[in-house]
Amino acid sequence: MTKVLRAKDVHKVYNLYTNHEFEALRGINFEADEGEFICVMGPSGSGKSTFINNISTIDLPTSGLVYINDTEVRTMSGKETGQFRYKNLGFIFQEFNLMDTHTLYENIAMPLSLAHIDAKTIHQRVEAISEEMKIDHLLHKYPYECSGGQRQRAAICRALINHPKLVVADEPTGNLDSHNSLELMRLLCKMNEQGVTIIMVTHDALVASYASRLVYIEDGQITREISRNHLSQEAFYSKIMNMNEEETKKFL
Ligand code: ADP
Repeated sequence: MTKVLRAKDVHKVYNLYTNHEFEALRGINFEADEGEFICVMGPSGSGKSTFINNISTIDLPTSGLVYINDTEVRTMSGKETGQFRYKNLGFIFQEFNLMDTHTLYENIAMPLSLAHIDAKTIHQRVEAISEEMKIDHLLHKYPYECSGGQRQRAAICRALINHPKLVVADEPTGNLDSHNSLELMRLLCKMNEQGVTIIMVTHDALVASYASRLVYIEDGQITREISRNHLSQEAFYSKIMNMNEEETKKFL
């Protein structure tokens, strides 16, 4: 099985060499196979966002190694990292992170524009992906003229426009109602079926039940992992709920 991502003994210390030094990741070992859909869960402040950021070039670990498609991320210069992201990675965030001064078309096209791709290719790609995400009729609109669900679908289009192998998502359903959350999960599953590997932080067991594997982070370490294997989504959901209950009981 091809490994899309490998993290070896990753540590992250914030405010290094100050009085407020804090070790947010404490020796993370993690691998993702091509085509996996992995959810990351854990209590608030346990290091989920730090984990996602440090395995996806948004931030760099204090020590340890991260390989994405066999490239060790710290060997790249800033410029190379930009190119690497464009070629390999897609990002989806809770706040959508769209630019309000740009139309949906311009927002979706942004990764290609930044990579100086020609206008014709950009046009074809934006048309294709926005049709797939059912927002092709909204391309001339600005983000503030669209609903939360529409904005998040635009953010997904932007994440996918460069045909990445790996998409990382940090609480992508966090600002969506339950209907739009499930719609988003269906879209992510479709992407995953087309071969995109997904690593997604969520606090929602129902959202996590769409994944094929779940890792649980506590105090900066992966403390549990469960795989869906042959389980139905309903049975996997129950397993996740049981795990959450067991984890919560520890604090009672
Ligand atoms: P989670 O996503 O699980 O809620 P985070 O990864 O955001 O957790 O944060 C993990 C810990 O690291 C928390 O204690 C948080 O306060 C701390 N932290 C996060 N970002 C920074 C930062 N930039 N500087 C200092 N501490 C940080």
